[in-house]
Amino acid sequence: MSNTELSTYSILESSGPFTDPEYTPEFGKDELSKAKILVVGAGGLGCEILKDLALSSFTDIECIDMDTIELSNLNRQFLFRESDVGKSKAKVAAKFVSRVVKDVKIVAHFNRIQDFDTDFYRRFTLIICGLDNIEARSWINKMVVDIALHHEELIPLIDGGTEGFQGSVKLMIPTITACFECYMKLVPKQTTYPLCTLASTPRLPEHCIEWAHQLEWPRVYSGKKFDPDDPEDVETMYMMSLKRARQFGIDGVTKSKTLGVVKNIIPAIASTNAVIAAACCNEAFKFVTSCNPNMVDSMYYNGEVGVVLASDEYHKVPGCPVCGNTVEEITVRDDITVKDFARYIKEKYELIEPDIFYQEKDLYNFKGNMKNGERRLRDEVAFEREGSNWRCQYELIAVDRGGKQVRLDITLEQ
Ligand SMILES: [Zn+2]
Repeated sequence: MSNTELSTYSILESSGPFTDPEYTPEFGKDELSKAKILVVGAGGLGCEILKDLALSSFTDIECIDMDTIELSNLNRQFLFRESDVGKSKAKVAAKFVSRVVKDVKIVAHFNRIQDFDTDFYRRFTLIICGLDNIEARSWINKMVVDIALHHEELIPLIDGGTEGFQGSVKLMIPTITACFECYMKLVPKQTTYPLCTLASTPRLPEHCIEWAHQLEWPRVYSGKKFDPDDPEDVETMYMMSLKRARQFGIDGVTKSKTLGVVKNIIPAIASTNAVIAAACCNEAFKFVTSCNPNMVDSMYYNGEVGVVLASDEYHKVPGCPVCGNTVEEITVRDDITVKDFARYIKEKYELIEPDIFYQEKDLYNFKGNMKNGERRLRDEVAFEREGSNWRCQYELIAVDRGGKQVRLDITLEQ
């Protein structure tokens, strides 16, 4: 038995006040040895998660990441060395951890998550996401919810996320607890500033940078797109912002702030990644072995001002387009065109590029230019009189890029 197993097994053998009376150490060990874990992302969080899982005696791990290693990753993605630059993150991380920790098998996939189908994901006991983009996390969330709905198999999803000195962990049991999409209702929209503030009453360094980015650059360099990866462009943008800030007596415009605002970058911090990854793996360990209860729903960590650490209950959102599976009743004006209707649905349900169907027929294709866009919705689908209104005879389904769906029951009114 390795040292790692010795320390893990001693945890499984000791029972505490919260341990389920039916729990036995044999059960815990058995489940731990059978568990097959998928880690999505092998970057800042993923490196930590892979290391923590291996050191917690998980032995059967797979990992997906489509990215290759860049020089700028090396300060925090500690499984990578300079000689690894340009290689697959998943492959290098898997190889490193397998070499250092005895008995762990990690299969690496240098792929996009969308390269795999439902049957691939159904093989796992649990999935942990260490990703930095919402789209990929939504996609995985949709996958586990669909597996729960169509195959009646529950694959818990643990989602870790970090932003600077702050981070969160969510433990989601598909269809039972709130899903990732339910939580997205909490996320504030990306900060935007009113143009009039930028143009006439800047108060913050961000206002000066956005002024330069949105107004001054296009005015001075009409036709030349700003390239955030070109050092000369960044320097020019910085000087524009600085000049503006000086005019209004505003401090705080720096080159890195300029780059941060125009690229919308929040710095990744190694210590935050370590805290969040550890919490993800701790929840995975408890879930798989049943040795102790899991946290309730989600955990927030804020290391920015002092330290705040809290776990919180969060309920499913009724009508959630992924796990809600309910039909949304909506009323629109009876002269609405198909195109305006599609736009309305896109905004109301925060979709990206929804296509709309009924009875498996296309009503509207967001990208393509269907001829019916300018026609009235009432003339394109069957409606029936209901008092002074019209009620749609079919359920319409809006399907977004990434598979998010909203089912719609439409009434038209004058
Ligand atoms: Zn949901």
